[in-house]
Amino acid sequence: MKILEKTMKNVIKRNPGEPEFHQAVREVLESLEMVAERHPEYVEAGIFERIVEPERQIMFRVPWINDKGEVQINRGFRVQFNSAIGPYKGGLRFHPSVYLGIIKFLGFEQIFKNSLTGLPIGGGKGGSDFDPKGKSDKEVMNFCQSFMTELSKYIGENTDVPAGDIGVGGREIGYLFGQYKRLNNNFTGVLTGKGLTWGGSLARTEATGYGLCYFVEEMIKAKGKSFKGANVVITGSGNVAIYACKKAQELGANVIALCDSNGYIHHACGINVDTVKQIKEIDRKRIKEYISYHPDAVYSDGCDGICNIKCDIILPCATQNEIDGQAAKTLVANGCYAVAEGANMPCTPEAVKVFRENGVLFGPGKAANAGGVATSALEMCQNSMRYTWSFEEVDTKLKNIMKDIYQGCSEAAKEYGQENNLVAGANIAGFMKVAEAMYAQGIAY
Ligand code: NDP
Repeated sequence: MKILEKTMKNVIKRNPGEPEFHQAVREVLESLEMVAERHPEYVEAGIFERIVEPERQIMFRVPWINDKGEVQINRGFRVQFNSAIGPYKGGLRFHPSVYLGIIKFLGFEQIFKNSLTGLPIGGGKGGSDFDPKGKSDKEVMNFCQSFMTELSKYIGENTDVPAGDIGVGGREIGYLFGQYKRLNNNFTGVLTGKGLTWGGSLARTEATGYGLCYFVEEMIKAKGKSFKGANVVITGSGNVAIYACKKAQELGANVIALCDSNGYIHHACGINVDTVKQIKEIDRKRIKEYISYHPDAVYSDGCDGICNIKCDIILPCATQNEIDGQAAKTLVANGCYAVAEGANMPCTPEAVKVFRENGVLFGPGKAANAGGVATSALEMCQNSMRYTWSFEEVDTKLKNIMKDIYQGCSEAAKEYGQENNLVAGANIAGFMKVAEAMYAQGIAY
């Protein structure tokens, strides 16, 4: 980097101790160097310096009472990163690893992802270091109500519309929505991922995983391949992983492995997705339980080994930096030809380099997993119209959006002399729309 190196140095200096945020910004700025060369007006207007600085960062105390009657304190976050093209939009993550740097990396990625969907949504992200795992429904409700009591001051259907992410599914969205409505006396589409009887959209639950597969279908089709008969490994066993597994199987793939943070299952004849749904969505148990339903599957402790399983396609759908350079080398040596990120930034920069150097097709998260937020935007649209579309209508729109995203990324990559580099394509295509809007709206914005 030449022009944007100073911007990168400032990000590191102004945001110490936030390596995930630095990693996400570096990847984007490296792709945008060519844009800075072609568009000196954006450099002059400080677009690059402004886009890496959140418009607003909110941190707050979340006190709540556990089932033993003890007072607990967690920390809540909402980073409202960029509203140039629409209200802030992005999920809430509840996980003990959450701190400001994680929320900033996710919020930054969200700006470009949301822009790629072609829908009018800005970028934001939030969450807490609260761990829903092992908590009773009442404890989760107590926490969500306290969290929303503070968050409600900063969000709104035209301001900022949060959704789910790791640790925030339908149950949590329900408690959060109920509290927002109670505090504001206002039934409004302030959150997405809502239940179907109170403003939710059909196909939102499935959208990220399904969208990921629609994106992969396009990406591999361009190289004359398809899901039919392909052996697929998926990491994670949460919302994204489950519906990626379901759609990949519908498209003819043999999904052979899934994991959670404790270990992984390898089921060579094909994962039974109904069993996984029962264990993870209904019983809220560990993936290890799978072998009690299917004794021919093998369970191994720890997640690292999942990348040693021979596969054609891998879809990392758990969390950031789960595939490193070494794991990438093993995947390549075993003949893996395509990788698409269902999670946000699950591949380290070293892993991405290994994939590129070995001609592995690589779909970056901000493009490949954008189906979730795109369908959230369709939920906002239905809420505004006070109308609902059928599953098929939403699914068709989702499929078209994912095709357009793939096309947009490929074309942007080609335009900047980076053919087949979807990382550069996604960053450039996502950036251009936001940059144009920021430029038009003036410096004070
Ligand atoms: P869930 O909470 O439903 O599932 C997360 C899954 O990942 C669980 O199986 C979890 O296991 C596993 N996991 C979490 N941390 C680790 C870890 N350190 N090592 C191994 N496994 C881990 O979350 P989602 O499926 O919603 O989200 C998964 C990823 O997809 C995240 O990166 C998220 O940001 C991204 N994403 C989600 C979207 C959505 O619509 N939900 C949209 C776009 C991106 P365990 O139960 O043991 O914690």
